[in-house]
Amino acid sequence: MITIDGSTGEGGGQILRSSLTLAAATGEAVRVTNIRANRSRPGLLRQHLTALNAITEICGGHVTGGELGSSEITLRPGSVRAGDYHFSVGSAGSANLVLQTVLPALVLAGEPSKVTVQGGTHNPAAPPFDYLQECYFPALRKIGHEVRGELKSYGFYPAGGGELTVEIDGAGTPCPFEQTDRGEELSRSLQAIVANLPADIAKRELSTASRLIELEDEAAMTILAPDSIGPGNVLYGRLAYEKSTTLFSQFGEKGVSAQQVGKRLAKQMKAFSASSAAVDHHLADQLLLPMALAKGGVFSTLRPSLHATTNAETVSKFTGRRISFEDANGHFICSVL
Ligand code: ATP
Repeated sequence: MITIDGSTGEGGGQILRSSLTLAAATGEAVRVTNIRANRSRPGLLRQHLTALNAITEICGGHVTGGELGSSEITLRPGSVRAGDYHFSVGSAGSANLVLQTVLPALVLAGEPSKVTVQGGTHNPAAPPFDYLQECYFPALRKIGHEVRGELKSYGFYPAGGGELTVEIDGAGTPCPFEQTDRGEELSRSLQAIVANLPADIAKRELSTASRLIELEDEAAMTILAPDSIGPGNVLYGRLAYEKSTTLFSQFGEKGVSAQQVGKRLAKQMKAFSASSAAVDHHLADQLLLPMALAKGGVFSTLRPSLHATTNAETVSKFTGRRISFEDANGHFICSVL
């Protein structure tokens, strides 16, 4: 049994989720201690418990410690079975993070699966669904995993209540992921989503961000006001290059002005644009696991975040892969060998 100390490095939910995915995919039993020790409310929250139950279901595993608030769990996995799965977080916890727990195991199952998850689809501090659609799923397809996602309904934090589905081919031939060069910039665009909130918020966010990133093309700025049970607002910035597209996001929050949201987004976009990286820092931490379970590979990215270095350690423990980040003047080269 592999023991993972959940308080190391970033000390959040990702160490737990990655350990669960890796245990199911490799067949190794795992004990995770000190779960989310670095968070103000440590232990399993609904999102993490749903992820634990979901992975247990897809691999027919046996779990101890699977209760809300639990700081230690064990999982003895069976083997991963393709199927038609439904999971519900039961709160606004991120449905996308639950999906990311089961997806890298189901893509290797050899047969098609369909996964439906209900919960938060647009949460701060998690990949919003559109990020999965535009950045994460395309990266999985480059690794050889055919996945098609659909947002059925929006679930903004804190009300949640959204739903997503993903169809997984499950029979692809994994190949190395290689993305060191992004090519020339093709376009940049902004999109503001406001649900059950005044459209003026979106207008002010777009006006600030567009001025700062020097976007004059009105057609490249859109406002979306989808049906959603609760209020919510996110501002997206899209940088499309010849070989990759990156979606940056900033969520509106109480006490933070629309101008501030626009400024924060522009800052992220400008930093990425000024670098020569092909992969943003979120995708960098999210890709390590599926790459390690496939054929490894290499990509250029920004300075690795604590999420990325912590995840690299967890992934290496299960797979024996050597994961390194090397400073390459203008970007970092991440190799998964
Ligand atoms: P905790 O509550 O313990 O902080 P968590 O389970 O909600 O943790 P983390 O361990 O912090 O989550 O992991 C969050 C994941 O969401 C990381 O993979 C991170 O890169 C990703 N993420 C956060 N914000 C964004 C964003 N704006 N776009 C894309 N991905 C994001």
